[in-house]
Amino acid sequence: HQTLLQMKATLNGLDSDIEILYATPLEAYQDLLTRYDIKNVFTNHDYEPYAQERDGALVSFFKEKTISFNSYKDQVIFEKLEVTKDDGLPYTVFTPYSKKWKAAVKENTFNPFPCDKYWKNFLKIKKVQAISLEEIGFLKTDEAFPIAKLDESIVKNYHNTRDIPSLLGTSRLSIHLRFGTVSVRSIAGEAMPLNEKFLNEIIWRDFYQQILFNFPHVVGKSFKPQYDQIEWRNDESEFKAWCDGKTGYPIVDAGMRELNTTGWMHNRVRMVVASFLTKHLLIDWRWGEAYFAAKLNDFDLASNNGGWQWASGSGVDAAPYFRVFNPRLQTEKFDKALQYIRKWIPELNSFEYPKPIVDHDFARKRCLEVYKAGLNP
Ligand code: FAD
Repeated sequence: HQTLLQMKATLNGLDSDIEILYATPLEAYQDLLTRYDIKNVFTNHDYEPYAQERDGALVSFFKEKTISFNSYKDQVIFEKLEVTKDDGLPYTVFTPYSKKWKAAVKENTFNPFPCDKYWKNFLKIKKVQAISLEEIGFLKTDEAFPIAKLDESIVKNYHNTRDIPSLLGTSRLSIHLRFGTVSVRSIAGEAMPLNEKFLNEIIWRDFYQQILFNFPHVVGKSFKPQYDQIEWRNDESEFKAWCDGKTGYPIVDAGMRELNTTGWMHNRVRMVVASFLTKHLLIDWRWGEAYFAAKLNDFDLASNNGGWQWASGSGVDAAPYFRVFNPRLQTEKFDKALQYIRKWIPELNSFEYPKPIVDHDFARKRCLEVYKAGLNP
């Protein structure tokens, strides 16, 4: 919303404007055509199955109206089948993918398109009224997310701070990358000489986008089909306790409360809560995926689906099924002084805070049995 308002102000300075509509794309174009003579439509590739269908329908509509439709690669560095194995097939393992990705970088890979010089061509129009996007229902982010810019000191130190959820130790650029309010080329270009660990995270983002494009069955189904034979317990009251941050496992509850309050959660904690839901509670990863999709401001189908399938063991290059995160050990390693936990659970040491919903050793054993039975029927 902030970015759109900034763009609006810039365009107003050039005697032009931006119209912000809230409708389906088809309805929006039908509406715009009543007011403008449209010759060309420009957009960027979107690899999600829904988006492909949506854009496909628009292409037919534009054809009827003799409007040309132009779509470009923009939201990733390498897309579709640009980085493949030597036999041309897509990678499903991250490390060799990331090596090929790095080898594919050329001098101009991160260059921006020099668009400023075309600004004079913007249509001159009278100002239009902006609609309030708050009404659409985005959660307000806190002050940790103000600017779409790489913080050099965070990136330089990233390998030391990235796993500590109480620190401002990650870039917090995910919302901007997800909405395209920062250029992934400029971020990757700046990060490359600074910190390889950080660059690898940008590559994970490309990796999951190409997985979604090349293996669209991951939407709704496990990447590894045998994982769809696991008999999930799917207990609704346990699911509600997880959603509400009331499982009695402080690191899990702190994470869920951070999500519910801010629309963002630290990556280390995302892994812990996802493992807890699928392995301790044996709830289908798709339930957790859907809850994250509803709550995350940085929700991105490819990364969210990839993260959930990684945690449950069903995905590409996933955690092996017998790896069950121990919430207590995770806390000792990454939040020893309980700074993060106390921030989100002020009632931690009171009677109000619930007892653990399930015993860890019991849950771990049950998980291994149920997974084994599902995977080797
Ligand atoms: P940084 O650590 O600063 O990383 C920089 C950028 O790299 C991020 O902004 C993001 O674009 C990318 N990135 C980092 N880690 C990953 C990763 N594991 N996979 C893919 N891209 C990554 N990320 C989303 O953008 N949207 C989601 O919906 C999403 N859902 C997730 C669900 C689960 C279960 C898990 C385990 C991870 C998920 N992630 C998702 C990945 C990761 O948690 C977030 O990208 C990260 O926490 C965002 O914070 P940041 O911008 O400070 O990241």
